[in-house]
Amino acid sequence: MGDTLCEECSVLSFDDEIFKDFVGEDYIIPLRQGPDDEVNKRLNELLKLDYTRSDTFPDLPGLAASAEAGCAFCEVLREETLRYTLPEPSNITYRLRYLWSPPCASDGVGLYMLLAELTAKVDREGSDPYVRLISIAFSIESAQGTGRIRE
Ligand SMILES: [Zn+2]
Repeated sequence: MGDTLCEECSVLSFDDEIFKDFVGEDYIIPLRQGPDDEVNKRLNELLKLDYTRSDTFPDLPGLAASAEAGCAFCEVLREETLRYTLPEPSNITYRLRYLWSPPCASDGVGLYMLLAELTAKVDREGSDPYVRLISIAFSIESAQGTGRIRE
């Protein structure tokens, strides 16, 4: 995919430097389980992206406009969302976070996946709202200090 990102998606680009306490030339500190672990807390904060976006399924006009204007990630996110069968219309909310390599990862890169968490919601009169949570994973190519997303 191309390199152009809209303002909201610009959070996907980051400087590897922020992870310098966690990744070295030959090592990665694995993300461990344990809520009281200070290292884990700091790492988890870094991995959450400041990104919340809402749109309406199935047209997804917000993503469509942004994709039309040239944002490569909005285009991919829209295409992936349209693979799902959801009530029409649904209110969609997106959140993004990076995932850290599991200890078994072989490629020696700290960040290994971008996770888009999509919540589809429909308010229904007289009953509980319809809610469905979908996770869409994207693999990452890292080059020259910038995270790049690969489908
Ligand atoms: Zn975008």
